[in-house]
Amino acid sequence: MWFRRDLRIADNAAFYQALHAARRVYCVFVFDTSILDPLHPNGPAADRRVEFIHRAVQQLAQRLSAAGGGLVVLHGVAATEIPRLAEQLAVDAVFTNRDYEPDAIARDAQVGDALSRQGRQFHTFKDSVIFEHDEIRTASDTPFSVFTPYKNAWLKKLTPFFHKAYPVEQYLRALARAPGIETVLSLDALGFLPSNIADLRLGDGEAGGQQLLDEFLPRIDAYGTARDFPAIKGPSYLSVHLRFGTVSIRQLVRVAWQRSEARSAEPENGAAVWLSELIWRDFYQTILREHPRVTTESFRAEYDAIVWEDDMTAFLAWCEGRTGYPLVDAAMAQINRTGYMHNRLRMVTASFLTKDLGIDWRWGERYFARHLNDYDLAANNGGWQWAASTGCDAQPYFRIFNPVTQSERFDPEGKFIRRYLPQLERLSGKEIHAPWLLSGERQREAGCVVGIDYPAPLVDHAEARVKTLARYGKVKRTANAA
Ligand SMILES: Cc1cc2nc3c(=O)[nH]c(=O)nc-3n(C[C@H](O)[C@H](O)[C@H](O)COP(=O)(O)OP(=O)(O)OC[C@H]3O[C@@H](n4cnc5c(N)ncnc54)[C@H](O)[C@@H]3O)c2cc1C
Repeated sequence: MWFRRDLRIADNAAFYQALHAARRVYCVFVFDTSILDPLHPNGPAADRRVEFIHRAVQQLAQRLSAAGGGLVVLHGVAATEIPRLAEQLAVDAVFTNRDYEPDAIARDAQVGDALSRQGRQFHTFKDSVIFEHDEIRTASDTPFSVFTPYKNAWLKKLTPFFHKAYPVEQYLRALARAPGIETVLSLDALGFLPSNIADLRLGDGEAGGQQLLDEFLPRIDAYGTARDFPAIKGPSYLSVHLRFGTVSIRQLVRVAWQRSEARSAEPENGAAVWLSELIWRDFYQTILREHPRVTTESFRAEYDAIVWEDDMTAFLAWCEGRTGYPLVDAAMAQINRTGYMHNRLRMVTASFLTKDLGIDWRWGERYFARHLNDYDLAANNGGWQWAASTGCDAQPYFRIFNPVTQSERFDPEGKFIRRYLPQLERLSGKEIHAPWLLSGERQREAGCVVGIDYPAPLVDHAEARVKTLARYGKVKRTANAA
């Protein structure tokens, strides 16, 4: 059993199938140097995701060992390590859960070929989504590119069969040990330094994922309204666990669906809204699988004619949270310090980069990819293309978030801003959203002089808006004329 982005024992599809099919099952995880090496090009570096995985792998190894098995942990190129280990252990088959990213598909094809040349089987399973790309189709058997009809078809198809848990625990006796090669390498040996992950309460491994879920359940009914306010604990914070499979999507959907059914007559049904977010996740996986070109191109091809600003200075100010717009800067401080950013703020900062600074969404996508703990190619690309209006079911280009009114609406007292920008601490809930509008005297009194203690706005939002409408309008008109 080859574990990848499914670092848990419970309700793991491929693991269940392996245990069910074989008399002896060895488990392996590979710290893949083809993924890890580019993360520390100049020697040892801290990376929260590597550390999250490392902790999850340690826990998995302990749990497997307690159940009578073990975990072989390798550090090398997975595409060569897996066939080599399969030969060393003389196994009949390798079991794994499918990954839908283009690079993973290519790697798995390589592994499948190598195993087949050795006369071994390679079995892959659906585990990380409820429905794969070809399971939800339009009446004319094409993939959906609009979310609402996709969601309706998804919900219509959902029966308890699709979110039933695989009863892995009943079959653990098939676990086997591979003495001598079951050591979990230290972070140091992998070439990484400790990060601040221990301060972030992300929860370690499978146990941490369950704990976050338990904490979220009492909040789920209020999710529909609470989720939009970054200063309060509205969302589940489970994204990193979904990313690395330390929690099962079937369990989450089961919980959300049952709660949503029970609350169907209530005016506030947070579980239904949360379920909808989990469906967005499947939707973007489908878009990526059906249209892998989105990794480099706009889903709506006409928008690739947009002429973006080639402004590295403005981009760096955005990255470092120096735009002069407090909500944007606090959000960028959140991602830089913690690797998480609240969903509302992902939309606000992505809109700001593309529509206030006129910078290509791909630059922002890459920055998020480097910094998000929950970075997921499908969801990140989908989110960026949604915000930039270039995506499949994106917001229209003329809908441009105003960073000040977003701030007034979603952080009305400035609590979130103050948490990340202490220099604005003494401004009132009314003042904090646009400090440059305050008199010089008031700025001095509050200890926050714009241009000295806090940056002046990088752009004027009203002017930027006009420019953006022209930028998008031009390519839209050209496309319409053609
Ligand atoms: C520009 C941009 C970039 C994004 N990049 C990522 C990313 O790299 N990885 C990622 O997992 N999500 C991404 N999202 C979606 C969303 O912001 C995060 O999933 C969410 O903030 C994670 O926090 P949570 O687990 O507390 O979410 P909750 O609100 O508790 O949602 C539960 C789960 O639903 C899924 N989900 C929620 N919203 C979305 C969405 N819009 N699209 C797809 N799945 C969703 C996630 O798996 C999430 O963990 C992005 C959104 C935007 C606008």
